[in-house]
Amino acid sequence: MLFTLEDLSKWFPKNQGNINKETAIKEITTDSRKEVKDSLFVPIVGEHFDGHQFAEQAVENGAVALFWNEDRDLPSTLPRDFPVFLVKDTLPSLQKLASLYRDQINPIVVGITGSNGKTTTKDLVTTVLKSKYITHSTKGNYNNHIGLPLTILSMSRDTEVLVLEMGMNNFGEIDLLSQIARPNFAIITNIGESHIEFLGSREGIAKAKMEIINGLQDNGTIIIDGDEELLKSLHQKPKVIKCGFKERNDFKIEDSKVTSKETIFKLSDGATYHIPLLGKHHAKNACYAIALAYCVGINAKQRQQALKFVQHTSMRFELLKGKNEVSIINDAYNASPTSMKAAIKVVKELNGFKDKVLVLGDVLELGEFSKSLHETVAEAIGEPITTVFTFGTMSKVISDKVKKDKGNKIKTAHFDTKEELMEALQPFLNNQSLVLFKASRGLKFESFVNELIN
Ligand code: ATP
Ligand code: MG
Repeated sequence: MLFTLEDLSKWFPKNQGNINKETAIKEITTDSRKEVKDSLFVPIVGEHFDGHQFAEQAVENGAVALFWNEDRDLPSTLPRDFPVFLVKDTLPSLQKLASLYRDQINPIVVGITGSNGKTTTKDLVTTVLKSKYITHSTKGNYNNHIGLPLTILSMSRDTEVLVLEMGMNNFGEIDLLSQIARPNFAIITNIGESHIEFLGSREGIAKAKMEIINGLQDNGTIIIDGDEELLKSLHQKPKVIKCGFKERNDFKIEDSKVTSKETIFKLSDGATYHIPLLGKHHAKNACYAIALAYCVGINAKQRQQALKFVQHTSMRFELLKGKNEVSIINDAYNASPTSMKAAIKVVKELNGFKDKVLVLGDVLELGEFSKSLHETVAEAIGEPITTVFTFGTMSKVISDKVKKDKGNKIKTAHFDTKEELMEALQPFLNNQSLVLFKASRGLKFESFVNELIN
């Protein structure tokens, strides 16, 4: 149970129907199609649909109470005694409910933002904190103004630590999420180029991420990428922990190595950590989890042990075996220029392959910066990469530039159809080849991966 109708009536006094003290709300839902027993249905007014139209369906599917915009008429079929909480606007009310519930349960709240690595860091933090605390965290990518409140409202009452991913496209969004969650710990994983279309510059992106401190508790701690110059203004703040490779960091990665199975790194806390994720950038993501674990009393041995078994959300740099034992890296989940360059770096570092093939697609939402940022990806490509295939529209900039800069040293081609791309990959389907698939979500690169695995 989350709370009773009586609790709700204290928080939202304008209500009608039978507010039975005993009626328990077990879940909050915004999707009327889902069967959820004993739920509170919160109709959201979206661009294409108005959730209020689906209230009857929600009730059929198990809702025992409704939030309702007071300027809307209630469905005529709704029983007169059905519990309804009348509000000005259902979305801010959902956010307010999440905030009130957060305060009632009062767990340690961890907010995670950054251009890349939020979900990975969330997974790492969750894994480590679970070794000592009852931990609830964001599922999938429920990281926006609706997903975050729903995540808060799905934690059980015995939750001790709440780990929240905070995503954004524009200014003001992280501010809102942070004010709802009021974190005790705020993590900024990195500053990349994602959403530069809306934010104007990397400085703009840094500013938008730093909004996370607006909702931070007074005695809260900020954990940041200490290598990033654009976050330097935070170094002056009290209770800042810097993580990274540079000398100035509080948690400094002293030595790191990537194998085909794991990333191994030695940290300035004296311990060596093994994580089953590939890439030095993941050492940094793990470092945030280690710094946080240190703050909440999880010792080095427990940290080392937990990190060995991280459960990672899928399609993020998964190393798989495909047809004829070809090694495939499925990083089809999403891409930004920074994460694409990070992935290429890992492919370069992995040993034991004759051919290293990059299959890269468009990075979307870069606006006027698109061409130049795709060119920066091309600049990151060099030996021992042997082949670069691009697919989509803008990604042609990458293969063209590699061809121009590297000539015959690296084989390049751009494809417009899946059939042509699959055909070109045939010679690489053997145990001597490593093939990386990476593009923005919109390009659905997992369909290529699936074809080569089954
Ligand atoms: P989204 O905005 O889509 O939710 P995210 O911030 O949650 O993304 P992840 O899903 O963890 O990020 O990782 C996305 C990609 O970024 C992966 O390809 C991963 O390899 C890469 N990545 C993860 N951490 C870093 C980092 N610290 N620096 C650069 N790239 C990274
Ligand atoms: Mg994510």
